[in-house]
Amino acid sequence: MMRVHRIILNSRPGKNGNPVAENFRMEEINLPDKLNEGQVKVRTLYLSVDPYMRCRMNEDTGTDYIKPWQLSEVVDGGGVGIIEESQYANLAKGDFVTSFYWPWQTKVILEGKILEKVDPQFVDGHLSYFLGAIGMPGLTSLIGIKEKGHITVGSNQTMVVSGAAGACGSLAGQIGHLEGCSRVVGICGTDEKCSILVSELGFDAAINYKKGNVADQLHELCPSGIDVYFDNVGGDISDTVICQMNQNSHIILCGQISQYNKDVPYPPPLLPEVESVLKTRNITRERFMVLNYKDKFESGILQLSQWFKEGKLKIRETVISGLENMGVAFQSMMTGGNIGKQIVHISE
Ligand code: NAP
Repeated sequence: MMRVHRIILNSRPGKNGNPVAENFRMEEINLPDKLNEGQVKVRTLYLSVDPYMRCRMNEDTGTDYIKPWQLSEVVDGGGVGIIEESQYANLAKGDFVTSFYWPWQTKVILEGKILEKVDPQFVDGHLSYFLGAIGMPGLTSLIGIKEKGHITVGSNQTMVVSGAAGACGSLAGQIGHLEGCSRVVGICGTDEKCSILVSELGFDAAINYKKGNVADQLHELCPSGIDVYFDNVGGDISDTVICQMNQNSHIILCGQISQYNKDVPYPPPLLPEVESVLKTRNITRERFMVLNYKDKFESGILQLSQWFKEGKLKIRETVISGLENMGVAFQSMMTGGNIGKQIVHISE
């Protein structure tokens, strides 16, 4: 028997509570020595913390897509690792694999069939990118923009991105430019993030929503109004953006993180005056879920990897080390501690 560490759900924050690191707890368990037919032993290399996990912390996630985590049971989410032993015909020792349902555990025995083999060449060896830009968040930005953004090359469109310095947002702004927007403005929570958006990621301008008046700054920075809004946050920021959107413009409803610690349905209802702006200006705001577009994942990953290799897509991540810090990393991401994708590196 080998001793390994895992993270369990220790307590729930409550539907109206802020999640904290102490909602998670690390414990030591035995890993069986023997694999059954079809199983593999993997060593975890990187784990992801994502906003959608906030609803898995509730007893009821409020959606059919994802199940709640159970108290005292191992937590799971996106992960990448390496096969150490295999009794599954399609995977061999040394293969790199990923899954959306990876247990938060240093080493783990899994059914080989739930794992997807990944090619490190796609990410120039940066395996954590499979959890970010060349993974689910990257696909969300790309497919969201393509399906819901209605960007037309040469039509001088202005895009605004909220949550702009995060995993999805930092890519969405860049993809907005690549797809043909002439102007991209980001909204995020610190001056440091704003300056990275402009100096490294090619945004034309950025607004720190914690400073100054967002409506006035937007008005100045988007003189022709807003044609495409990539919305990661909802709430006041989105109300302000929507009020400056043009006739026949489009919202990519990616997420509403400002509302995730509140007991409201998804998507949260808009204020009546904002709803009326949508109607009178014929602004689209359709629900978007990346998991509904699995048929587009393969080509999407190819596109993202190609842009990355051509230097057209700049990738930022914030890495914390140690399985014991999963809760810290989650809390930090939920409160803006990350620039780019928040990753946890598992070194044990
Ligand atoms: P992320 O943006 O890397 O991290 C979350 C960020 O949200 C934080 O860094 C923080 O940055 C910002 N934030 C937190 N509380 C906020 C508040 N009250 N108001 C404004 N900003 C706040 O996370 P991500 O993985 O890229 O996810 C971004 C959004 O996309 C989330 O809403 C998520 O649910 C959604 N998403 C949707 C899909 C889909 O299929 N539709 C798939 C993936 C992700 P600041 O410093 O700027 O506050």
